Amino acid sequence: MKKVRLGIIGCGIAAKELHLPAIKKLKDKFEIVAACNRTEKKAKEYSRLTGGITYTTDCREIFKNPEIDAVVIAVPIELNYKFAVEAIKSGKHIFLEKPLAAKPREAKKLLALQKRTSSTCFLAENYRFDTLYLEIKKILNEKVIGDVYSVVWNVFNNLTLKDKYAQTLWRQKNKYPGGFIYDGGVHNIAVLRMLFGDIESGYASMKTINPEIGTEDTFSFLFNFNKSLHGALNIFFSVRGFHSNNLIILGTKGSLIVQSNNQIIIKKDGRKEQKINIKTDGGYENEFLHFYRIVKKGAENLSPFEEGYKDMMTLQRAFESAKKNRLVKIF
Ligand code: NAP
Repeated sequence: MKKVRLGIIGCGIAAKELHLPAIKKLKDKFEIVAACNRTEKKAKEYSRLTGGITYTTDCREIFKNPEIDAVVIAVPIELNYKFAVEAIKSGKHIFLEKPLAAKPREAKKLLALQKRTSSTCFLAENYRFDTLYLEIKKILNEKVIGDVYSVVWNVFNNLTLKDKYAQTLWRQKNKYPGGFIYDGGVHNIAVLRMLFGDIESGYASMKTINPEIGTEDTFSFLFNFNKSLHGALNIFFSVRGFHSNNLIILGTKGSLIVQSNNQIIIKKDGRKEQKINIKTDGGYENEFLHFYRIVKKGAENLSPFEEGYKDMMTLQRAFESAKKNRLVKIF
């Protein structure tokens, strides 16, 4: 079967450090034809890393190139809408980095616009394809810890301007609400929704501790999926002295815990704890593989724009709750 021929829009950290290793592992399925970046230096560097492919600073060249089947869009969040619109109009398949858009209005327009194309509109949410979360989903479906009644996820990060992501100017001067919370938290919401369905209502609090990395960086969200399952998500990006990522799922027969080290621990009263080590690259290879299967084999799109819309709107409505200091309906 022929390869999917890719055009790259945005040659920054995600494109070079997250996507490229995955695409290289799938070299029998993808061919990178050309790349575009705002500044030439990064486009040229990307070309060097990919064996000297064509590069440009004018992305229109990518959209009109008949040798390209699909575009991979990894640009600052506020540009997702503009490039997704151009991509839809071009008729090429689309692999669009999360979150779907910076603003709800833009996201709604994308949902409407995508109906005009029969091409694949894939929202690249790698956590949906991460073996860690897929394994947890399997364990929960098998009722190993009984019926889940609560989930608590605490993400503590100590980001400063030494961090490569914090060094990007568009993050420092974020043109969308939520800053790093929106950027990073959308992954957590995608996992929570994948495991437990849509969040129905919630109450959030949000603030900025370190304005150098943008606004906002500190977020607590208490929410209900339904009457029998509730949860709490705390995302702190300006924690000093330590970082950790702790997911705790409580069931009627036991508890499932994930610590930063990609190890699932199952604890039950009177039993030796069970540890399952997970090998994962964060889901990047799996998401590209899935994209290939949709485009070439007609597989069901497990991360359509509609899912991206629900992920981002969950956070947007939580931000609204924080702003208005009241409980809000989410979905
Ligand atoms: P980044 O390093 O700043 O990369 C963005 C790239 O887009 C930069 O190279 C930038 O070029 C380029 N760009 C900006 N305006 C452009 C334009 N008009 N035309 C063409 N290129 C343009 O940021 P990043 O960390 O890679 O993030 C990019 C996207 O990936 C975001 O949507 C982010 O949410 C997502 N992301 C996802 C993950 C994940 O785990 N899934 C991780 C990180 C990021 P200049 O620097 O020259 O302006």
